[in-house]
Amino acid sequence: MITAVEIEAKAKELKQKGYPVISLAIGEPDFPVHESIKDTIYKAVLDNKTYYPNPQGILELREAVAEYETKRKGIHISPDEILITAGGKPVIFYSIFSLCNKDDEVILLEPYYLVYPYWCKVLNIKYKVIKLEENGTIPKDEFLKALNSKTRLIIINYPNNPQGSLMNKENLDLLLEALEKFSRLYILSDEVYSELVYEGEHISIFKYNKERVILLESFSKTYSMTGLRLGYGIFPIDMIKNLKTMNSNLITGPSTPIQYAGIVALKDENVKNYVKTMLEEFRKRRDFLYEELKTFVKFKPQGAFYYFIKIPYDGLEFCNRALNEKYLAITPGILFGDSFKNYVRISFANSMENLKEGIRRFKELL
Ligand code: PMP
Repeated sequence: MITAVEIEAKAKELKQKGYPVISLAIGEPDFPVHESIKDTIYKAVLDNKTYYPNPQGILELREAVAEYETKRKGIHISPDEILITAGGKPVIFYSIFSLCNKDDEVILLEPYYLVYPYWCKVLNIKYKVIKLEENGTIPKDEFLKALNSKTRLIIINYPNNPQGSLMNKENLDLLLEALEKFSRLYILSDEVYSELVYEGEHISIFKYNKERVILLESFSKTYSMTGLRLGYGIFPIDMIKNLKTMNSNLITGPSTPIQYAGIVALKDENVKNYVKTMLEEFRKRRDFLYEELKTFVKFKPQGAFYYFIKIPYDGLEFCNRALNEKYLAITPGILFGDSFKNYVRISFANSMENLKEGIRRFKELL
């Protein structure tokens, strides 16, 4: 199955050949990385901070993450519980790989981020899929039917890519009860969009049971640092030692200067204001697109930066047509689960100008 990154690469190739391509396919903020972050990277290199990092992540960054997350979650988080990774994706692999064995099961909620089933398949781990309601609600009966003593891991993602939904209180209770009932069960909570919330409150299950919930976070979306590759997992302490060794044997860690940049991203007031500006810009784009799309969508995203749209066509064919006929790159819904063959995802992490033209082309095709 093609990935959104691959669609983006094809769109870039066409653009390089001179075609007037607009890409609303990938979840990548169009803002440049903040100057303070850039300066920190240059300075780290000039100061010879170019040696191997600690394979768990440099201590100063883990301390900064611990401080930031302690404040946000209202529970104590120690630098010892944190593993710094090259973007958030490795946390998905590490969680499935280190927790699940052949007879275990994983529960995924659809629409899901493609990386979850990818690693289950590669690692030969069985998974069950439950379809979320459009507002992100987990259907209770189906969930309870899927859950059993073999369920080792549930992967959740709020704010959700691609639905833009948040977790509600009933879901929180349902998941916490599941953890209570099944002692081998863990939850991986993918919260890479946690700072991109337009309305409502982002509930993080992590703070209610950090012994059995893994938190996945990333610098990619919040700080527009997609290509710098920085993220982290906060793991139950007994998992950390093995993961550190794994990191050490695999990549050692994200490059040292980028880790120093991560500290500035979390602490610098100017960066914080920049994130607020980006959020307000995303909100304007979300509202603009809602007006354009309201005959097709019922749900206005509460977080992240996508519209997930049902169309009267096969989504994959429609996306191919969009790229080949209109030079518009968008993502087919099938990437987020088999239930979404007639869906497409549009990202509004792009300039208003591109959105206006992109949506014009989109409507022409419908
Ligand atoms: N989780 C979700 C839900 C995502 O949408 C993404 C990026 N598209 C990631 C994780 C991983 O992002 P990164 O590896 O860039 O941190």
